[in-house]
Amino acid sequence: MTSKEIRKTFLDFFQSKQHVIVPSAPIVLKDDPTLMFSNSGMTQFKDYFLGYKEPKNKRTADTQKCLRVSGKHNDLDDVGKDTYHHTMFEMLGNWSFGDYFKKEAIEWAWELLTEVFHISKDRLYVTIFEGDAEESLEKDVEAYNFWKEHIAEDRILLGNKKDNFWEMGETGPCGPCSEIHVDIRSDEDRKKIDGKDLVNNDHPQVIEVWNLVFMEFLRKADGRLEKLPKKNVDTGMGFERLCMVLQGKISNYDTDVFTPIIKKIEEISGLNYGETTHVDIAIRVLADHIRAITFSIADGQLPSNSGAGYVIRRILRRAIGYAYRVLHIKEPILYKLVSILNTQMGEFFPEISKQESLISEIIKEEEISFLRTLDQGLVKLAHFMENNPGLKIIPGNVIFELYDTYGFPSDLSRIIAEDHGKSIDENGFNEEMSKQKARSKSATTFKNYDWVILEEDDVEEFVGYDFLETTVKITRYRKI
Ligand code: ATP
Ligand code: MG
Ligand code: MG
Ligand code: MG
Repeated sequence: MTSKEIRKTFLDFFQSKQHVIVPSAPIVLKDDPTLMFSNSGMTQFKDYFLGYKEPKNKRTADTQKCLRVSGKHNDLDDVGKDTYHHTMFEMLGNWSFGDYFKKEAIEWAWELLTEVFHISKDRLYVTIFEGDAEESLEKDVEAYNFWKEHIAEDRILLGNKKDNFWEMGETGPCGPCSEIHVDIRSDEDRKKIDGKDLVNNDHPQVIEVWNLVFMEFLRKADGRLEKLPKKNVDTGMGFERLCMVLQGKISNYDTDVFTPIIKKIEEISGLNYGETTHVDIAIRVLADHIRAITFSIADGQLPSNSGAGYVIRRILRRAIGYAYRVLHIKEPILYKLVSILNTQMGEFFPEISKQESLISEIIKEEEISFLRTLDQGLVKLAHFMENNPGLKIIPGNVIFELYDTYGFPSDLSRIIAEDHGKSIDENGFNEEMSKQKARSKSATTFKNYDWVILEEDDVEEFVGYDFLETTVKITRYRKI
């Protein structure tokens, strides 16, 4: 099955179960002061769950463009390094707003995966909420009993509050969830270690595909849980992961969602994907980031120096940095990938096809300007080394200034220093970074919620600007 067929099959299936198919909400949120980007399918339905609005249809399904680069859901550090977390991804979902509940949600998820998509039952595991004594929350026996009608009991695993109890925010709807995990290892590997020992353990081939959330409680301001009069279902399945499973691949990047983009990167760079680890990571970063950038621009968010635009600019620069440093591409490259992405996704997401040339122009301009910055940084560094020929270790404050003023990644400074038989003072650099962080630090702490109320001067965390594991704090503006 092609990815297009897989998406369509999901939507057709839920349509056949009387769900109304709705379009994805924009990836960039313009009217929610508490969240910059859609990071799950339920974002656009938040008001229904809070009771602020009446849903038009009690059963709804869609594929939602998501971006997980800030706040509670920040996967940026894993992107490229692993094969199944993306910045931008599609989340397939079905919803019941006060209509069906656990029985149907479980039954249909199972029917779709095993009877329509024909995933072998002995490769699937499900998790249910184990309960929580402190909160007097019981084990989700209801879900357990529905699951055991479909799947062997030793494949139903218990999960803790962190993985199996979903809360929208400090207050509001919440409830237990059941996740579906797939083991796509070879038969031989599956004999060696039982799949259930690898569930939720960061194994690249025993992965979570679908999360079914059963909203049955309301968290009150005093922390108490109350039963909701109308129960809701909110599910989310990773589209690219599903494609990997159905196309018999062991990496999302080997599916037809990504292969045309990767082929183009190979063509431009003259490098092959699948030969060297660090080149592979860089190629995956480019193939991933171009999607986040393209979809954000298509939804109206231009790269800029503040708010969501700043996040996009930094994702773009991260990709350019990888291309420059690892793939040795010193010319704009990302803009050339937009047309490939359009061929791949433009039919389903017309916002891309309608604006293809504009998107690619914007990206090209950004690339030209950042490449110039990188060049300037190189010249500065070269001058410093020329003027201080005896210095073997380049001081941290010099590296920091390059980073801070010119946006010049410290990793690149290190490599260039090494090329000249020198090193950089990493500790000194880190100290300067900490000082800067301390200067901009605010009291915000992110809990295990999707929504947080941001005060005027709160910050949303965006991790990963350069190739170091640095954290950059950015101001979250109320109006973007
Ligand atoms: P994981 O544990 O793998 O990080 P999650 O529990 O954070 O996933 P959920 O919030 O439950 O994910 O989202 C629902 C589904 O969306 C997941 O089951 C997964 O298939 C998919 N998904 C989540 N994060 C990503 C991502 N960064 N890239 C691609 N798919 C993702
Ligand atoms: Mg996650
Ligand atoms: Mg998970
Ligand atoms: Mg999950």
